[in-house]
Amino acid sequence: MISIAIDGPSGAGKSTLAKRLAKELGFLYVDTGAIYRTIGYYIYTAGISPDDQRAVVAALPEIHLELRYGEDGLQHMLLGGQDVTREIRLPEISRYASKVSAYPEVRAFLLEMQRQLARTHNVIMDGRDIGTVVLPDADIKIFLTASAEARAKRRWKELEERGTPAPLEQVLREIQERDDHDIHRQTAPLRQAEDAVLVDTTELDFQGGVEVLLDLIQKRMGA
Ligand code: C5P
Repeated sequence: MISIAIDGPSGAGKSTLAKRLAKELGFLYVDTGAIYRTIGYYIYTAGISPDDQRAVVAALPEIHLELRYGEDGLQHMLLGGQDVTREIRLPEISRYASKVSAYPEVRAFLLEMQRQLARTHNVIMDGRDIGTVVLPDADIKIFLTASAEARAKRRWKELEERGTPAPLEQVLREIQERDDHDIHRQTAPLRQAEDAVLVDTTELDFQGGVEVLLDLIQKRMGA
């Protein structure tokens, strides 16, 4: 099985690019952020404070999550059998996901699920710690980044299109807070793996990003 790990901060273009690359290559796309978001969503709906580590950890055994791939090839998240793919995208859930993902017990709870997918499929998996922790032996590792301003603008546009607009300054502030949290946490912090290729998408549009990454992957796979 071949695995491609894509890590990087929020809004660098990981999921949109990885989705397209997976289609081109015929690989399974695994969005691990969606898995953390589903945990965040459960905690939110259960009325548990995301800052209360003990309560979050105590709730883990009650959480039954599943990944399902629809006919569209897209990853759906199921929580207790219910499809929560849309709900987990709310900005409040981003905050919950970022907080609960810092707890080592939460990361351990999800580790095997992610590895199992890579054992049974050719995958493009995106997240924060795929190249460093989840799949340290991935065949290709990419660290995708862009300036905070460029990332905030993309997220802002996405929120508008989704019908949940928010002011740009607020989106930028939230992105910076989340980056800060992801980079400075103790367990599996966001960082570039030593053997990852750094790709900066600040000046690239979607098509440009697809071309750069496909070229890189094809060269590596052919090598
Ligand atoms: O990628 P996305 O923004 O959807 O992820 C939501 C949150 O989940 C991130 O801010 C990060 O804190 C967490 N996450 C993580 N490890 C991953 C993927 C996401 O900690 N592999």
